[in-house]
Amino acid sequence: MSQLMDAIVKPTAGPGLELRRVPVPVPKAGEVLIKIHKTAICGTDVHIFNWDPWAAKHIKHPPMTIGHEYVGEIAEIGPDVEGLRVGERVSGEGHITCHRCRNCRSGNIQWCKDTMSVGVDRDGAFAEYVCIPATNVIKISEDLDEDVVAFFDAFGNATHTALMFPLVGEDVLITGAGPIGIIAAGICRYAGARRVIITDINDDRLVLASKMGVDYAVNTMREDLNEIMAKAGITEGFDVGLEMSGSEAGLKQMIVSMRNGGKISLLGIGNKPFNMNMNEIIDRGLTLQGIYGRRMDNWHQMAYMVQGGLDLHPVITHRFHYTDFEKGFAAMNSGKSGKVILDWTTKK
Ligand SMILES: [Zn+2]
Repeated sequence: MSQLMDAIVKPTAGPGLELRRVPVPVPKAGEVLIKIHKTAICGTDVHIFNWDPWAAKHIKHPPMTIGHEYVGEIAEIGPDVEGLRVGERVSGEGHITCHRCRNCRSGNIQWCKDTMSVGVDRDGAFAEYVCIPATNVIKISEDLDEDVVAFFDAFGNATHTALMFPLVGEDVLITGAGPIGIIAAGICRYAGARRVIITDINDDRLVLASKMGVDYAVNTMREDLNEIMAKAGITEGFDVGLEMSGSEAGLKQMIVSMRNGGKISLLGIGNKPFNMNMNEIIDRGLTLQGIYGRRMDNWHQMAYMVQGGLDLHPVITHRFHYTDFEKGFAAMNSGKSGKVILDWTTKK
């Protein structure tokens, strides 16, 4: 008879999540069991909660435990694992890669052709325990605040997107002030950009972005981006663009606001195909780079940026006990939240 634990489960192919008692996973060879301290809710989890077309396509085997942003400690080590010990504070890389394909063999695990995602393709971390391969375990320094480490996975996406192109002395446009856009704004500031301007159509999110030190948080429903650029002394267009909105209007505005030769990282996933004029990209010599996941060395960069003074606390807007997860998802669905943290360190 296996031990049981609390877990936030997608019970069936449809909307909603349930707190259930499920078996504690047992680490197999090469795996590690992690006791969860804190988790953070990602946009992906909201898709799964709401059961939109993305979730219906990607969640193939309910019932399953969801969640992939977390921090905790090693509770048990499976056979054939070296270099880790019980009690160490850890997080985990959520993309489990094959280690065999051409990209994996060349260190580009973010482009693995056979990626499995924790909390999507296999049981996730919104539970008292999660089991992952030891190669995905990330040791976390004791001086880092667990509320911030809880969303290092999202911070990793922001880091990979923001640092794709050089930022020192550059003018950056970020379209989309969701949590990852706001975190990316903080990274751009930290990494030496001259001007950081973020756009959205949601004032609550723009207020959060302002707390992260952007020069201008622009509501494009009311404000003219060209006027803001003139105020900011941006005369030839933005050098770097980070597309975080997944909206056609956002990307189109970015493309016409770049300087010739500008570079764009694309992270926002569109909910439908875009109707684009390719000539605007070609004529102006723009570079567009699709972003997926993160590089493993981003985990070190993240820890070091926080230790170096990048404060991500402004992006945290809500904290709940895990049994109140529905309040957390309601906050995320309200469009007024930044990161929502769930606490698993106490029983209620
Ligand atoms: Zn691979």
